[in-house]
Amino acid sequence: MILDGKSLGKRIREELAKKVAVLRENGIVPRLDVLVAAQDPSSLTYVAMKQRWAEQIGIIGTQWPMDANTTESWLHDKIDSLNDDPDVHGVLLQHPLPKHLDEPAALERLGAEKDVDGISPQSLGRLLTGAPGFRCATPLGMMRLLDEYGIECEGKHAVVVGRSVILGKPAALMLLERNATVTICHSRTPNLREVCSSADILVAAVGRAEMFGADYVKPGAVVLDAGYNKVEGRKGDVGDVDFEAVSSIASAITPVPGGIGPMTVTMLLSNVVTAADLRL
Ligand code: NDP
Repeated sequence: MILDGKSLGKRIREELAKKVAVLRENGIVPRLDVLVAAQDPSSLTYVAMKQRWAEQIGIIGTQWPMDANTTESWLHDKIDSLNDDPDVHGVLLQHPLPKHLDEPAALERLGAEKDVDGISPQSLGRLLTGAPGFRCATPLGMMRLLDEYGIECEGKHAVVVGRSVILGKPAALMLLERNATVTICHSRTPNLREVCSSADILVAAVGRAEMFGADYVKPGAVVLDAGYNKVEGRKGDVGDVDFEAVSSIASAITPVPGGIGPMTVTMLLSNVVTAADLRL
């Protein structure tokens, strides 16, 4: 079974567009503002895509470019003013910020009610404690895909490879919340292949092209591939999983592209609409 994030994402965005129309009828225009490093071509591409999809469903937004001349105090003032602006429903700090700026401090400053990407310490704390709040977009997209295809987590052994704050750790917490038994692996995990091949649900969140071959996967496992990797001589992005080898033994698998990626942006936009709806 191919877990088709492209189609599901499109369908969810169509539903969001209807919700936005109702909000607009009630005088609320959902707005997502983005702080982005102006000299980072990848960030600009991602942000352009996010804003294009946002516009398609009726979300407006302003981009706040930052460069080598952007000061810490400008950034803090901007975050404070966006936090205080009732017309702004979501704020995205597109990672990575320019190197001289303190990204953790900026995230700490961002109000949890505006953190639609769900990656500030406050939002992650809420995830950890099970309190309501915006959840991290990428793992949230994974959970939404599992729901769509009726894949149960309870009682399953989930192995998450990768422990980043935006992906591996929150994915593990969300799987735990769904009563999976979770193992988290990283670059210093011994016998990685053995651990992975005991997984009922395998989450690959490493950033190494096609690292996970068939020998890492238990027959019948569900495989979620978050990886987006550029490979010289290959067109487009390549996942962390060797799709060709693994798709023949997994029971379900996300493709790259068209799996987790479109779900991530869709969940971000869904959080913006929820934030605007809360205002209503
Ligand atoms: P990070 O670089 O922050 O984290 C990578 C993790 O993988 C680390 O925990 C690292 O371990 C672990 N790791 C690295 N090499 C190995 C190895 N050989 N064996 C086991 N573990 C290893 O990356 P991100 O979490 O930000 O992103 C991971 C991937 O997901 C990337 O390809 C990225 O492009 C993609 N991504 C996709 C998104 C989407 O929307 N689909 C969104 C965000 C990211 P250690 O902690 O020990 O260093």
